[in-house]
Amino acid sequence: MSSVHPVVIIGSGPAGWTAAIYAARAQLNPIVYCGVPKQDPGPILPGGQLMLTTEVENYPGFEHGVQGPEMMEKFRKQAERFGTKVIEDDIARVDFTKRPFTLYPADGAPIQAHSVILATGATANWLNLPNEMRLARAGGGVSACAVCDGALPAFRNQALAVVGGGDTAMEEASYLTKFASTVYIIHRRDSFRASKIMQERFMSRPNAKVLWNKAVVDVIGGDFCEGVVLEDTVTKERSNLAVKGLFIAIGHTPTTKFLANSGIKTTDKGYIHLAGRNSYTNIEGVFAAGDVADEHYRQAVTAAGMGCQAALDAERWLAANNIH
Ligand code: NAP
Repeated sequence: MSSVHPVVIIGSGPAGWTAAIYAARAQLNPIVYCGVPKQDPGPILPGGQLMLTTEVENYPGFEHGVQGPEMMEKFRKQAERFGTKVIEDDIARVDFTKRPFTLYPADGAPIQAHSVILATGATANWLNLPNEMRLARAGGGVSACAVCDGALPAFRNQALAVVGGGDTAMEEASYLTKFASTVYIIHRRDSFRASKIMQERFMSRPNAKVLWNKAVVDVIGGDFCEGVVLEDTVTKERSNLAVKGLFIAIGHTPTTKFLANSGIKTTDKGYIHLAGRNSYTNIEGVFAAGDVADEHYRQAVTAAGMGCQAALDAERWLAANNIH
């Protein structure tokens, strides 16, 4: 094992890269473990959720909007410009029981760090229906990312469905209206939690339809999605809806599996617990930022702000402990 690094950052979304920019400018020579692409069963990419989105219109400084992947590329380049070292590997497990901390990458050699910033974000949730998972894994027309998969020829001019009632569902459904004959949003209640502007954007499309008070209880199809079985959440009546694609947009789960048995405290929903308004976790020298520690805001700009806080907290903590 080589020398002990002042700051290791795990994760490469807005929080991770912003932490790296600040830590690099503070001459802490940060290392970012940016992760590797994987299917779980949907796509997970270095750069995080913004890699699976199209236009970002609410990040200040981009007057005309910016594509999510382009924005993450800019973040990475800015971090690298100040000397951030990027390692394309996952951290599989950590040992926070003694300092310096030890991190165990999935492929590379263990690495030691005086401080660690956890910025691993969150991944898409699934309904966990047997046929949903089977078809999602087989590329059979079930996906948790319309932006990644929606433009495939199999979905062109077909009826498609999106499950969920939040901003993600609106965004994904609006995107699909460009290709599909009809896009149904299937929602389990009779009102959306999505912002008004996102709702209106979807509703204004001529091929947009909403099915209120409906839950998807099964997916129909052998090799490819042919439809869904719906259950009315009020009357419990069941019906079939013919669709060639099903897109799940029901929220996300924080990425914390690699922290199992690490002693890091999490909330009852599995997010990393922050002690107060700063980025300190319950373990001294370990900081957290972004969606992995934020069940309230979950925006690119708030994640970036939290990344900044984590780097400043780590820098001050290192100085206070005379670690150089
Ligand atoms: P979300 O706001 O948590 O919404 C999840 C939706 O899925 C809710 O409508 C929920 O229904 C539904 N749902 C959850 N579990 C379900 C289940 N098992 N079966 C059926 N439906 C289920 O998640 P999100 O839409 O991914 O948004 C997350 C955050 O990202 C939000 O803060 C959002 O504003 C932000 N975001 C912003 C943008 C943007 O501004 N461009 C785009 C995407 C996301 P209930 O409503 O009944 O709970």
